[in-house]
Amino acid sequence: MDNMDSNGNVVGRFAPSPSGRMHLGNVFTALISWLSVRSRGGKWVLRIEDLDPQRSRQEYARQIEDDLRWLGLDWDEGGIDNMGDNGPYMQSRRDSFYLDALGRLNDLRLTYRCHCTRADIMATQAPHESDGRVVYHGTCRPCAEPPFDSHSDGSGATRLYVPDEDFVFTDRVFGEHSVNLTRHCGDFVVRRADGAWAYQLAVVVDDALMGVTEVVRGCDLLLSTAQQLYLYRLLGYEAPRFAHLPLVSNAAGQRLSKRDQSMSMDALRQKYSPEELIGKIASMAHIIDRYEPCTAKSLIGVFDWHNVPAKESIII
Ligand SMILES: [Zn+2]
Repeated sequence: MDNMDSNGNVVGRFAPSPSGRMHLGNVFTALISWLSVRSRGGKWVLRIEDLDPQRSRQEYARQIEDDLRWLGLDWDEGGIDNMGDNGPYMQSRRDSFYLDALGRLNDLRLTYRCHCTRADIMATQAPHESDGRVVYHGTCRPCAEPPFDSHSDGSGATRLYVPDEDFVFTDRVFGEHSVNLTRHCGDFVVRRADGAWAYQLAVVVDDALMGVTEVVRGCDLLLSTAQQLYLYRLLGYEAPRFAHLPLVSNAAGQRLSKRDQSMSMDALRQKYSPEELIGKIASMAHIIDRYEPCTAKSLIGVFDWHNVPAKESIII
């Protein structure tokens, strides 16, 4: 069953951070999301996730748009020019929407201020939590259970209480998952001490207000889906369908990053034509059986979610 918006459309989105040139992994996500939407006659939204002012640059956003056009991946809403009715489509201009959502969480009395440093939090981690995940154990909670009433005073990060409850969801690629937020992350930050918005809050508010019905992204974010489902529930929004993808890794098995210069769009555009690059990604993602140059458009008719591998990584 597909989730649809009020007009019966599937609405997907691509939400890159303009902190550098896209690499092959970003393009893989963009292509799958675009094909999923286009194969069902839906809409594709381009949102610029420039929450981090230190790392975001308008010139990178322009470069991302240019790369998407070169690949033949067109969008119906969004981008730097704010095309569409649900804008602005750059997160740096959406402060009022995030403030409104935070106000609603405060009104529910589920938020409180936290003054812990990273070192304070690391000192509370149990040995079994050393897999890189950091769990907050509620050090600054004003009392054991909500309602909290000290949410509005002074400084510090704003954290959101999480219940000791299993969130169950079915990912389109990775199937059913159950995540207990108390064990997974604990009360999580929705606004940082410096006033910056946390990804979790911004992404839920944006996807909900932009009418997004399908979220396609890398499987590093699979378990964070539970945090977002919790926010959807608290804010009274209908959750989209989630589809997580394998991460594209280099020959050494490491996830691609901006450091892999040979996989950046800059290098890829020098080496390949758009058809060659799309064909390479499509064969890697099992959309086509074997490599052949092709346009993104020519894949709309053959795209099938069942062929997307439920693996944590694919090596290029
Ligand atoms: Zn704290």
